[in-house]
Amino acid sequence: MKKKEFKAESKKLLNMMINSIYTNKEIFLRELISNSSDALDKLYFLSSTNGEIKVNKEDLEIKLELDKENRTIKIIDNGIGMTKEELENNLGTIAKSGTELFKEENSDSKNLEIIGQFGVGFYSSFMIAKKVKVLSKSINDDKAYLWESDGVDGYTIDESEKESNGTEITLYLKDNTDDVSYDEYLDTYTIERIVKKYSDYIKYPIKMEIEHEHEDEKTKKIEKHKEVEVLNSRIPIWKKKQKDVKDEEYNDFYTDKFYDYEKPLKVIKSDVEGLTSYNALLFIPSHAPYNYYTKEYEKGLMLYSKGVMIMDKCADLLPDYFSFVKGIVDSEDISLNISRETMQEDRQIKLIAKNIETKVKRELETMLKDDRENYEKFYEAFGEQIKYGIYSSFGMNKELLGDLLLFYSSSEEKLVTLDEYVSRMGDDKLIYYASGETIDKIKMLPSVEDALAKGKEVLFFTNYLDEFVIKTMGGYKEKNFVNVQNSDFDLSSEEEKKELKKKNEDSKELFTSMKEILGDTVKEIRYTNKLKNHPVCLVSEGEVSLEMEKVLNAMPNGENVQANKILEINENHPISKKIQELFENREMDELKNYTKILYGTARLIEGLTIENPTEITNLICDMMSK
Ligand code: ADP
Repeated sequence: MKKKEFKAESKKLLNMMINSIYTNKEIFLRELISNSSDALDKLYFLSSTNGEIKVNKEDLEIKLELDKENRTIKIIDNGIGMTKEELENNLGTIAKSGTELFKEENSDSKNLEIIGQFGVGFYSSFMIAKKVKVLSKSINDDKAYLWESDGVDGYTIDESEKESNGTEITLYLKDNTDDVSYDEYLDTYTIERIVKKYSDYIKYPIKMEIEHEHEDEKTKKIEKHKEVEVLNSRIPIWKKKQKDVKDEEYNDFYTDKFYDYEKPLKVIKSDVEGLTSYNALLFIPSHAPYNYYTKEYEKGLMLYSKGVMIMDKCADLLPDYFSFVKGIVDSEDISLNISRETMQEDRQIKLIAKNIETKVKRELETMLKDDRENYEKFYEAFGEQIKYGIYSSFGMNKELLGDLLLFYSSSEEKLVTLDEYVSRMGDDKLIYYASGETIDKIKMLPSVEDALAKGKEVLFFTNYLDEFVIKTMGGYKEKNFVNVQNSDFDLSSEEEKKELKKKNEDSKELFTSMKEILGDTVKEIRYTNKLKNHPVCLVSEGEVSLEMEKVLNAMPNGENVQANKILEINENHPISKKIQELFENREMDELKNYTKILYGTARLIEGLTIENPTEITNLICDMMSK
């Protein structure tokens, strides 16, 4: 028969695929075995709807044959087979997935279980084969056909001989090169390993003849005998009991299935029977995927029904704040033709999702309690997502997620939970915190120094979300949060407060003139008694803190949000006497310069920028040269 060209787009795709998509050559076997498994599914389905086709379920199988001499691998099934047209359409056009077509034609094929969905699988055989022959006989045809191709130029289809229905694929291995030896695929151990790795839960037996050697007890001669073995255990790993699976098997399954190079931080197994029945195998990754905090990241769990995948990423099974969870849910209660549209309304899906949420939460809590080191690793990777979960739900999830938060504690010098903080509070009603860029920078903030000197435990917020999160939470276990950089925060005694108030009143005129110099940039200027060594500090009044001002203004399209700033001057510092003198002597120009410098340095201490750095530095240098 005349050689037919692959359709143009097939050819392009084909080359691309052989050379780039699948760098992992061994998956060719997974693809071909999946196709065979589909073909067996289809035949079995046909027999259940068509009385003329008789199939014994036990006879359905996949066979592998290795031929070292001729360097071929055969994959044989006794499934539905392909007619001439089907060979042409299915294997001739890469984009055309016969599986998809079959589904459309048999709209009542509700219970048909199909793995393949993309229509590129078969071509992966050209990664290792220089020539592929497909001998097939359809259950609907008396004639058999042989499809043959070298994968690049095109293919031929000729009439051929085959006794019974099914497909036999022969792969002629590529010649070995200096870099790659294809011979390993002729090795029974390699094939066994690949089948175990990718196709262990294919429900039909995958058989191969394996040669065994053993020593004859009497003659001491090595004897060889061949035996047909079933390579796959046929039970999906998520259906196996946890005690029967090695950690390593879970890890391999995870890295392979979810394309991670690192093993998971935690494996969660959940088998539920009741209102809804399902097996779930979930993983918490040990690091965030590179695109995790972007729009590209798609959350979701694989959804299987009766061992067959029906959806790759079922988003409805996971709440956003647990979007990092990977895994598989297999439930007999899910209909195979569930779609993305009907998913959201599905009662079973909702039930499972609720259970999974609770389960993940509990596992994280256990980890927090019993395996702090790993929990901190988890928190490092996904803590921001947990925070976001509270923030974006306007605090609705605070009960659920609040216990999972960690913050750095000044007294413990490590990350602590809010619960741990509260347990140390005694009679105190307030949870103290301060925000800044780094722990070290926060420690040096004047208001923090004061709080620490007075023996308070202060939580240091270094993540831009932290303050927003606790603001949405409102409080924790009936305790309120207070920012030590806020004007409300005052740990001095009543006596001290009274004394300070008087001093401030006495200096009212001075502060009014200073305020005139600074204009609207500050709301107030006053003395404080909380500063020890620092001459000045800035505090904020109201809801927007200095740190929030920074965050909000750093956002794209961030509106110009300003915290209400109060410039506080250390009443005991020599500088306070100096400005009083200047004011009393009416040296207003000097007072102006001093005020500007004081405000500028206060901003710098808080990590805010100064609008007019040259002016300030010039002023400082002028003063230094005097
Ligand atoms: P996919 O399996 O994703 O649809 P493939 O390129 O692997 O894509 O296969 C294309 C089509 O060829 C399949 O959809 C199926 O209709 C047909 N096919 C492949 N292998 C077999 C087989 N062993 N028996 C019957 N049909 C097959």
